[in-house]
Amino acid sequence: MMQILQAVRGMNDILPDAAERWEAFEEIVREWLASYGYRPIRMPLVEPTPLFARAIGEATDIVEKEMYSFVDSLNGELLTLRPEGTASCVRAVLEHDLLYGGPQRLWYAGPMFRHERPQKGRYRQFHQFGVEALGLVGPDVDAEHIVMCARLWRDLGIEGIRLEINSLGSGEERRAYREELIAYFEGNLDRLDADAKRRLYANPLRILDSKNPEMRPLVEGAPRLVEHLGEASRAHLEGVKLRLEDLGIGYTINPRLVRGLDYYNLTVFEWISDQLGAQGTVCAGGRYDGLVEQLGGRPAPACGFALGVERLLALWGAPGQGEVRPDVYLVHQGARADRRAFEIAEQLRENGVSVILHCGEASFKSQMKRADASRAMLAVIVGEDEVEAGQASVKPLREAGGQRRVAFDALADHLADYFFSGHEDEHDGGL
Ligand code: ATP
Ligand code: MG
Repeated sequence: MMQILQAVRGMNDILPDAAERWEAFEEIVREWLASYGYRPIRMPLVEPTPLFARAIGEATDIVEKEMYSFVDSLNGELLTLRPEGTASCVRAVLEHDLLYGGPQRLWYAGPMFRHERPQKGRYRQFHQFGVEALGLVGPDVDAEHIVMCARLWRDLGIEGIRLEINSLGSGEERRAYREELIAYFEGNLDRLDADAKRRLYANPLRILDSKNPEMRPLVEGAPRLVEHLGEASRAHLEGVKLRLEDLGIGYTINPRLVRGLDYYNLTVFEWISDQLGAQGTVCAGGRYDGLVEQLGGRPAPACGFALGVERLLALWGAPGQGEVRPDVYLVHQGARADRRAFEIAEQLRENGVSVILHCGEASFKSQMKRADASRAMLAVIVGEDEVEAGQASVKPLREAGGQRRVAFDALADHLADYFFSGHEDEHDGGL
Protein backbone atom coordinates (compact mmCIF):
# COMPACT_ATOMS: atom_id res chain seq x y z
CA MET A 1 0.00 0.00 0.00
CA MET A 2 1.11 3.51 -0.66
CA GLN A 3 2.18 5.48 2.39
CA ILE A 4 -0.07 8.32 3.57
CA LEU A 5 1.62 11.67 3.10
CA GLN A 6 2.05 14.01 6.05
CA ALA A 7 1.89 17.75 6.52
CA VAL A 8 5.12 19.73 6.80
CA ARG A 9 6.52 19.66 10.35
CA GLY A 10 5.25 22.59 12.41
CA MET A 11 2.36 23.24 10.02
CA ASN A 12 -1.00 22.13 11.35
CA ASP A 13 -4.30 21.03 9.91
CA ILE A 14 -7.18 22.70 11.69
CA LEU A 15 -9.89 20.06 11.73
CA PRO A 16 -13.63 20.88 11.79
CA ASP A 17 -14.13 20.84 15.61
CA ALA A 18 -11.22 23.25 16.01
CA ALA A 19 -12.01 25.22 12.86
CA GLU A 20 -15.48 26.06 14.18
CA ARG A 21 -13.90 27.51 17.31
CA TRP A 22 -11.49 29.48 15.11
CA GLU A 23 -14.38 30.96 13.17
CA ALA A 24 -16.29 31.94 16.30
CA PHE A 25 -13.09 33.52 17.63
CA GLU A 26 -12.47 35.35 14.35
CA GLU A 27 -15.99 36.72 14.37
CA ILE A 28 -15.51 38.25 17.81
CA VAL A 29 -12.19 39.74 16.71
CA ARG A 30 -13.67 41.18 13.51
CA GLU A 31 -16.50 42.87 15.42
CA TRP A 32 -14.03 44.28 17.89
CA LEU A 33 -11.88 45.69 15.06
CA ALA A 34 -14.88 47.31 13.43
CA SER A 35 -15.89 48.89 16.73
CA TYR A 36 -12.62 50.85 16.64
CA GLY A 37 -13.01 51.79 12.98
CA TYR A 38 -10.26 49.54 11.59
CA ARG A 39 -10.67 48.39 7.98
CA PRO A 40 -9.53 45.14 6.41
CA ILE A 41 -6.65 44.79 3.97
CA ARG A 42 -5.39 41.56 2.37
CA MET A 43 -1.83 41.13 1.17
CA PRO A 44 -0.16 38.24 -0.67
CA LEU A 45 1.41 35.44 1.36
CA VAL A 46 4.57 35.71 -0.73
CA GLU A 47 6.71 38.82 -1.10
CA PRO A 48 10.08 39.66 -2.65
CA THR A 49 12.74 38.65 -0.08
CA PRO A 50 14.38 42.11 0.06
CA LEU A 51 11.18 43.56 1.57
CA PHE A 52 11.71 41.63 4.81
CA ALA A 53 15.47 42.06 4.89
CA ARG A 54 14.92 45.82 4.62
CA ALA A 55 11.93 46.11 6.95
CA ILE A 56 12.69 43.64 9.73
CA GLY A 57 16.47 44.08 9.85
CA GLU A 58 19.39 41.84 8.85
CA ALA A 59 20.54 41.01 12.39
CA THR A 60 17.24 39.58 13.64
CA ASP A 61 16.21 35.98 14.33
CA ILE A 62 13.60 36.18 11.60
CA VAL A 63 15.86 37.36 8.80
CA GLU A 64 18.93 35.43 9.94
CA LYS A 65 17.37 32.02 10.32
CA GLU A 66 13.58 31.82 10.23
CA MET A 67 12.51 32.83 6.74
CA TYR A 68 11.12 30.44 4.15
CA SER A 69 12.90 31.86 1.14
CA PHE A 70 13.16 30.27 -2.26
CA VAL A 71 14.01 31.02 -5.82
CA ASP A 72 11.04 31.13 -8.18
CA SER A 73 12.11 28.40 -10.57
CA LEU A 74 10.34 30.08 -13.46
CA ASN A 75 12.01 33.49 -13.37
CA GLY A 76 14.77 33.30 -10.78
CA GLU A 77 13.14 35.85 -8.46
CA LEU A 78 14.03 35.52 -4.76
CA LEU A 79 10.78 35.17 -2.77
CA THR A 80 9.80 34.66 0.88
CA LEU A 81 6.68 33.32 2.61
CA ARG A 82 5.74 36.22 4.86
CA PRO A 83 7.03 35.82 8.43
CA GLU A 84 4.87 38.72 9.66
CA GLY A 85 2.43 41.23 8.18
CA THR A 86 3.66 44.72 8.96
CA ALA A 87 6.23 44.87 6.16
CA SER A 88 3.68 43.72 3.56
CA CYS A 89 1.03 46.05 4.91
CA VAL A 90 3.30 49.08 4.72
CA ARG A 91 4.46 48.02 1.26
CA ALA A 92 0.85 47.82 0.10
CA VAL A 93 -0.01 51.19 1.64
CA LEU A 94 2.93 52.81 -0.17
CA GLU A 95 2.38 50.99 -3.44
CA HIS A 96 -1.24 52.20 -3.54
CA ASP A 97 -0.56 55.59 -1.94
CA LEU A 98 -3.26 55.02 0.71
CA LEU A 99 -1.79 57.69 3.00
CA TYR A 100 -2.76 60.26 0.38
CA GLY A 101 -6.29 59.82 1.73
CA GLY A 102 -5.19 60.62 5.31
CA PRO A 103 -4.35 58.35 8.25
CA GLN A 104 -5.21 54.69 7.85
CA ARG A 105 -6.45 52.27 10.47
CA LEU A 106 -6.02 48.78 9.02
CA TRP A 107 -6.13 45.12 10.00
CA TYR A 108 -5.32 41.81 8.34
CA ALA A 109 -5.32 38.18 9.37
CA GLY A 110 -3.81 34.98 8.16
CA PRO A 111 -0.93 32.56 8.25
CA MET A 112 2.68 33.61 8.86
CA PHE A 113 5.68 31.37 8.27
CA ARG A 114 8.83 31.06 10.37
CA HIS A 115 11.31 28.23 10.40
CA GLU A 116 11.48 27.81 14.18
CA ARG A 117 11.77 24.73 16.35
CA PRO A 118 8.15 23.52 16.67
CA GLN A 119 6.84 23.22 20.24
CA LYS A 120 3.68 24.07 22.15
CA GLY A 121 2.64 27.58 21.10
CA ARG A 122 5.39 27.81 18.45
CA TYR A 123 4.73 26.60 14.93
CA ARG A 124 6.21 27.04 11.49
CA GLN A 125 2.89 28.11 10.06
CA PHE A 126 1.01 30.13 12.65
CA HIS A 127 -1.71 32.76 12.47
CA GLN A 128 -1.93 36.38 13.42
CA PHE A 129 -4.40 39.19 13.44
CA GLY A 130 -2.35 42.31 12.67
CA VAL A 131 -3.51 45.86 13.39
CA GLU A 132 -1.73 48.94 12.01
CA ALA A 133 -2.39 52.67 12.33
CA LEU A 134 -0.47 54.76 9.80
CA GLY A 135 -0.09 58.52 9.72
CA LEU A 136 -0.83 59.14 13.41
CA VAL A 137 1.94 60.41 15.71
CA GLY A 138 0.50 59.32 19.06
CA PRO A 139 0.66 58.81 21.99
CA ASP A 140 -3.15 58.64 21.87
CA VAL A 141 -3.14 56.03 19.14
CA ASP A 142 -0.43 53.97 20.90
CA ALA A 143 -2.73 53.97 23.92
CA GLU A 144 -5.72 53.13 21.70
CA HIS A 145 -3.94 49.95 20.59
CA ILE A 146 -3.21 48.86 24.13
CA VAL A 147 -6.70 49.69 25.35
CA MET A 148 -8.23 47.81 22.41
CA CYS A 149 -6.38 44.69 23.47
CA ALA A 150 -7.66 45.01 27.02
CA ARG A 151 -11.19 45.19 25.61
CA LEU A 152 -10.66 42.14 23.43
CA TRP A 153 -9.54 40.06 26.42
CA ARG A 154 -12.79 41.13 28.09
CA ASP A 155 -14.89 40.37 24.98
CA LEU A 156 -13.31 36.91 24.84
CA GLY A 157 -13.62 36.40 28.59
CA ILE A 158 -9.90 35.69 28.96
CA GLU A 159 -8.37 36.66 32.29
CA GLY A 160 -4.84 36.98 33.59
CA ILE A 161 -3.09 38.55 30.61
CA ARG A 162 -0.65 41.14 31.89
CA LEU A 163 0.78 44.14 30.09
CA GLU A 164 4.44 45.13 29.83
CA ILE A 165 5.50 48.34 28.14
CA ASN A 166 8.77 50.09 27.40
CA SER A 167 10.07 52.96 25.32
CA LEU A 168 12.86 52.53 22.78
CA GLY A 169 13.19 56.30 22.43
CA SER A 170 14.20 58.12 19.28
CA GLY A 171 16.79 57.00 16.74
CA GLU A 172 19.30 59.38 18.25
CA GLU A 173 18.66 58.20 21.78
CA ARG A 174 18.98 54.62 20.65
CA ARG A 175 22.30 55.35 18.93
CA ALA A 176 23.74 56.86 22.12
CA TYR A 177 22.33 53.98 24.14
CA ARG A 178 23.81 51.52 21.68
CA GLU A 179 27.32 52.82 22.41
CA GLU A 180 26.65 52.55 26.13
CA LEU A 181 25.41 48.97 25.74
CA ILE A 182 28.37 47.93 23.61
CA ALA A 183 30.75 49.32 26.25
CA TYR A 184 28.88 47.43 28.97
CA PHE A 185 28.92 44.12 27.08
CA GLU A 186 32.58 44.63 26.01
CA GLY A 187 33.38 44.78 29.71
CA ASN A 188 31.72 41.36 30.11
CA LEU A 189 32.86 39.59 26.95
CA ASP A 190 33.47 36.27 28.73
CA ARG A 191 29.82 36.13 29.81
CA LEU A 192 28.35 36.59 26.31
CA ASP A 193 26.99 33.54 24.47
CA ALA A 194 27.72 32.97 20.79
CA ASP A 195 24.56 34.74 19.60
CA ALA A 196 25.32 37.76 21.74
CA LYS A 197 28.95 37.93 20.55
CA ARG A 198 27.77 37.86 16.97
CA ARG A 199 25.29 40.65 17.64
CA LEU A 200 27.50 42.77 19.83
CA TYR A 201 28.29 45.30 17.10
CA ALA A 202 25.56 44.46 14.56
CA ASN A 203 22.61 44.82 16.93
CA PRO A 204 23.46 45.01 20.65
CA LEU A 205 19.87 45.86 21.67
CA ARG A 206 18.84 42.42 20.55
CA ILE A 207 21.08 40.93 23.23
CA LEU A 208 18.54 42.25 25.76
CA ASP A 209 15.95 40.02 24.05
CA SER A 210 18.12 36.90 24.56
CA LYS A 211 16.15 33.76 25.40
CA ASN A 212 19.21 32.14 27.01
CA PRO A 213 18.61 31.94 30.80
CA GLU A 214 22.37 32.02 31.44
CA MET A 215 22.45 35.51 29.94
CA ARG A 216 19.78 36.75 32.36
CA PRO A 217 21.97 38.24 35.13
CA LEU A 218 24.14 40.06 32.60
CA VAL A 219 21.08 41.45 30.83
CA GLU A 220 19.49 42.48 34.15
CA GLY A 221 22.58 44.53 34.96
CA ALA A 222 22.67 46.35 31.62
CA PRO A 223 22.03 50.11 31.41
CA ARG A 224 18.38 51.01 30.76
CA LEU A 225 17.31 53.17 27.86
CA VAL A 226 14.00 54.05 29.50
CA GLU A 227 16.00 55.88 32.20
CA HIS A 228 17.94 57.94 29.63
CA LEU A 229 15.13 59.17 27.42
CA GLY A 230 15.07 62.74 26.13
CA GLU A 231 12.21 65.09 26.91
CA ALA A 232 10.04 64.34 23.86
CA SER A 233 10.32 60.57 24.30
CA ARG A 234 9.57 60.86 28.01
CA ALA A 235 6.48 62.94 27.25
CA HIS A 236 5.32 60.37 24.69
CA LEU A 237 5.63 57.56 27.21
CA GLU A 238 3.84 59.67 29.82
CA GLY A 239 1.01 60.26 27.34
CA VAL A 240 0.54 56.52 26.95
CA LYS A 241 0.81 55.80 30.66
CA LEU A 242 -1.68 58.51 31.64
CA ARG A 243 -4.33 57.17 29.29
CA LEU A 244 -3.86 53.65 30.62
CA GLU A 245 -4.14 54.96 34.16
CA ASP A 246 -7.28 56.95 33.28
CA LEU A 247 -8.91 53.69 32.20
CA GLY A 248 -7.53 51.65 35.08
CA ILE A 249 -5.42 49.41 32.86
CA GLY A 250 -2.52 47.98 34.86
CA TYR A 251 0.97 47.73 33.34
CA THR A 252 4.57 47.23 34.29
CA ILE A 253 7.53 48.95 32.66
CA ASN A 254 9.97 46.32 31.42
CA PRO A 255 13.23 48.07 30.48
CA ARG A 256 14.48 44.94 28.69
CA LEU A 257 11.51 44.73 26.36
CA VAL A 258 12.96 45.42 22.90
CA ARG A 259 10.90 43.19 20.57
CA GLY A 260 12.32 40.82 17.99
CA LEU A 261 12.11 43.18 15.04
CA ASP A 262 14.33 46.16 14.37
CA TYR A 263 11.76 48.66 13.17
CA TYR A 264 10.33 49.75 16.52
CA ASN A 265 10.86 53.10 18.28
CA LEU A 266 9.24 54.81 21.29
CA THR A 267 6.37 52.70 22.66
CA VAL A 268 6.70 48.91 22.61
CA PHE A 269 4.38 46.55 24.46
CA GLU A 270 3.60 42.89 25.03
CA TRP A 271 0.63 41.12 26.57
CA ILE A 272 1.72 37.98 28.39
CA SER A 273 -0.14 35.06 29.95
CA ASP A 274 1.48 32.90 32.62
CA GLN A 275 -0.75 29.97 31.65
CA LEU A 276 1.11 29.14 28.44
CA GLY A 277 4.58 28.26 29.70
CA ALA A 278 7.54 29.60 27.78
CA GLN A 279 5.40 30.77 24.85
CA GLY A 280 3.39 33.23 26.95
CA THR A 281 3.31 36.32 24.74
CA VAL A 282 -0.10 36.47 23.05
CA CYS A 283 0.17 39.94 21.56
CA ALA A 284 3.04 42.28 20.78
CA GLY A 285 3.51 45.60 19.09
CA GLY A 286 4.53 49.19 19.24
CA ARG A 287 5.51 52.26 17.27
CA TYR A 288 7.61 52.08 14.11
CA ASP A 289 7.93 55.63 12.83
CA GLY A 290 10.95 54.90 10.63
CA LEU A 291 9.56 52.05 8.57
CA VAL A 292 7.55 53.95 5.98
CA GLU A 293 10.62 55.96 4.98
CA GLN A 294 12.82 52.87 5.18
CA LEU A 295 10.56 51.25 2.58
CA GLY A 296 10.83 54.25 0.29
CA GLY A 297 7.80 56.31 1.30
CA ARG A 298 7.57 59.90 2.43
CA PRO A 299 8.16 59.77 6.22
CA ALA A 300 4.98 58.95 8.14
CA PRO A 301 4.48 57.82 11.73
CA ALA A 302 2.97 54.42 12.40
CA CYS A 303 2.25 51.89 15.09
CA GLY A 304 0.65 48.48 15.32
CA PHE A 305 0.50 45.09 16.95
CA ALA A 306 -0.14 41.44 16.21
CA LEU A 307 -2.18 38.83 18.07
CA GLY A 308 -1.00 35.22 18.10
CA VAL A 309 -4.18 33.30 17.25
CA GLU A 310 -3.01 29.81 18.36
CA ARG A 311 -1.89 31.12 21.74
CA LEU A 312 -5.11 33.08 22.35
CA LEU A 313 -7.24 30.11 21.34
CA ALA A 314 -5.36 27.98 23.87
CA LEU A 315 -6.60 30.41 26.52
CA TRP A 316 -10.12 30.87 25.20
CA GLY A 317 -12.93 29.01 26.94
CA ALA A 318 -13.89 25.37 26.92
CA PRO A 319 -13.63 23.12 23.90
CA GLY A 320 -16.93 23.18 22.05
CA GLN A 321 -17.18 26.98 22.26
CA GLY A 322 -18.17 28.20 18.84
CA GLU A 323 -19.51 24.81 17.82
CA VAL A 324 -21.76 25.09 14.79
CA ARG A 325 -24.98 23.04 14.77
CA PRO A 326 -27.20 22.59 11.74
CA ASP A 327 -30.89 23.23 12.40
CA VAL A 328 -32.23 20.28 10.45
CA TYR A 329 -31.09 16.88 9.22
CA LEU A 330 -33.33 15.87 6.34
CA VAL A 331 -34.12 12.14 6.22
CA HIS A 332 -35.90 10.61 3.22
CA GLN A 333 -36.69 7.28 1.69
CA GLY A 334 -38.01 6.20 -1.68
CA ALA A 335 -37.52 7.61 -5.16
CA ARG A 336 -40.35 10.18 -4.98
CA ALA A 337 -39.31 11.28 -1.50
CA ASP A 338 -35.71 11.70 -2.63
CA ARG A 339 -36.62 14.41 -5.15
CA ARG A 340 -39.15 16.05 -2.83
CA ALA A 341 -36.58 16.17 -0.01
CA PHE A 342 -33.99 17.75 -2.28
CA GLU A 343 -36.46 20.50 -3.10
CA ILE A 344 -37.58 20.98 0.50
CA ALA A 345 -33.99 21.38 1.68
CA GLU A 346 -33.58 24.38 -0.64
CA GLN A 347 -36.91 25.89 0.50
CA LEU A 348 -35.83 25.67 4.12
CA ARG A 349 -32.46 27.27 3.40
CA GLU A 350 -34.30 30.01 1.52
CA ASN A 351 -36.01 30.71 4.86
CA GLY A 352 -32.75 30.85 6.78
CA VAL A 353 -32.92 27.33 8.22
CA SER A 354 -29.63 25.40 7.92
CA VAL A 355 -30.08 21.89 6.55
CA ILE A 356 -27.96 18.80 6.06
CA LEU A 357 -29.61 16.70 3.39
CA HIS A 358 -29.04 12.98 3.69
CA CYS A 359 -27.34 11.90 0.48
CA GLY A 360 -27.36 8.36 -0.88
CA GLU A 361 -29.48 5.36 0.01
CA ALA A 362 -29.65 4.12 3.61
CA SER A 363 -32.12 2.53 5.97
CA PHE A 364 -34.34 4.80 8.00
CA LYS A 365 -32.52 3.67 11.14
CA SER A 366 -29.06 4.49 9.87
CA GLN A 367 -30.24 7.88 8.58
CA MET A 368 -31.59 8.67 12.06
CA LYS A 369 -28.17 7.75 13.49
CA ARG A 370 -26.51 10.17 11.09
CA ALA A 371 -29.06 12.82 12.06
CA ASP A 372 -28.15 12.37 15.70
CA ALA A 373 -24.40 12.50 15.02
CA SER A 374 -24.85 15.70 12.99
CA ARG A 375 -25.92 17.54 16.20
CA ALA A 376 -28.94 18.96 14.33
CA MET A 377 -31.85 20.17 16.50
CA LEU A 378 -34.55 18.50 14.40
CA ALA A 379 -34.89 15.63 12.01
CA VAL A 380 -37.31 16.30 9.15
CA ILE A 381 -38.50 13.04 7.66
CA VAL A 382 -39.91 12.56 4.18
CA GLY A 383 -40.91 8.97 3.43
CA GLU A 384 -43.41 7.45 1.02
CA ASP A 385 -46.21 7.98 3.57
CA GLU A 386 -45.33 11.61 3.94
CA VAL A 387 -45.21 12.22 0.20
CA GLU A 388 -48.61 10.56 -0.08
CA ALA A 389 -50.05 12.81 2.64
CA GLY A 390 -48.29 15.98 1.46
CA GLN A 391 -46.76 16.36 4.91
CA ALA A 392 -43.34 16.02 6.53
CA SER A 393 -42.66 14.47 9.91
CA VAL A 394 -40.71 16.67 12.30
CA LYS A 395 -38.85 15.04 15.17
CA PRO A 396 -36.97 16.92 17.92
CA LEU A 397 -33.53 15.37 18.47
CA ARG A 398 -32.24 17.40 21.43
CA GLU A 399 -35.32 17.99 23.56
CA ALA A 400 -38.44 16.23 24.74
CA GLY A 401 -41.49 16.20 22.49
CA GLY A 402 -42.95 13.78 20.01
CA GLN A 403 -42.90 13.61 16.28
CA ARG A 404 -45.41 15.81 14.45
CA ARG A 405 -46.73 16.17 10.93
CA VAL A 406 -46.52 19.50 9.12
CA ALA A 407 -47.85 20.18 5.63
CA PHE A 408 -45.08 20.66 3.03
CA ASP A 409 -46.49 24.09 2.17
CA ALA A 410 -46.31 25.25 5.76
CA LEU A 411 -42.99 23.63 6.65
CA ALA A 412 -40.59 26.48 5.84
CA ASP A 413 -42.61 29.06 7.80
CA HIS A 414 -43.12 26.66 10.62
CA LEU A 415 -39.44 25.89 11.05
CA ALA A 416 -38.43 29.52 10.63
CA ASP A 417 -40.82 30.29 13.51
CA TYR A 418 -39.47 27.42 15.53
CA PHE A 419 -35.83 28.50 15.15
CA PHE A 420 -36.12 32.26 15.08
CA SER A 421 -38.82 33.26 17.55
CA GLY A 422 -37.34 32.00 20.81
CA HIS A 423 -38.99 28.61 20.85
CA GLU A 424 -37.50 27.83 24.27
CA ASP A 425 -40.06 30.16 25.85
CA GLU A 426 -43.14 29.81 23.71
CA HIS A 427 -42.72 26.27 22.51
CA ASP A 428 -46.18 25.01 23.33
CA GLY A 429 -46.43 22.06 21.06
CA GLY A 430 -47.11 24.31 18.11
CA LEU A 431 -44.80 22.40 15.83
P1 ATP B 1 8.62 35.14 20.31
O1 ATP B 1 9.47 35.99 21.21
O2 ATP B 1 7.63 34.26 21.05
O3 ATP B 1 9.39 34.43 19.26
P2 ATP B 1 8.13 37.26 18.46
O4 ATP B 1 8.68 38.46 19.11
O5 ATP B 1 8.96 36.57 17.44
O6 ATP B 1 7.68 36.19 19.57
P3 ATP B 1 6.13 38.72 17.00
O7 ATP B 1 6.89 38.71 15.74
O8 ATP B 1 6.02 39.94 17.77
O9 ATP B 1 6.67 37.53 17.94
O10 ATP B 1 4.68 38.12 16.72
C1 ATP B 1 3.52 38.53 17.46
C2 ATP B 1 2.84 37.36 18.10
O11 ATP B 1 2.68 36.28 17.19
C3 ATP B 1 3.62 36.73 19.24
O12 ATP B 1 3.41 37.45 20.42
C4 ATP B 1 3.00 35.35 19.32
O13 ATP B 1 1.77 35.38 20.01
C5 ATP B 1 2.76 35.04 17.87
N1 ATP B 1 3.85 34.22 17.33
C6 ATP B 1 5.06 34.62 16.89
N2 ATP B 1 5.77 33.58 16.42
C7 ATP B 1 4.99 32.48 16.57
C8 ATP B 1 5.13 31.09 16.24
N3 ATP B 1 6.24 30.62 15.67
N4 ATP B 1 4.11 30.25 16.52
C9 ATP B 1 2.97 30.70 17.09
N5 ATP B 1 2.76 32.00 17.40
C10 ATP B 1 3.76 32.88 17.15
MG1 MG C 1 10.18 34.86 17.42
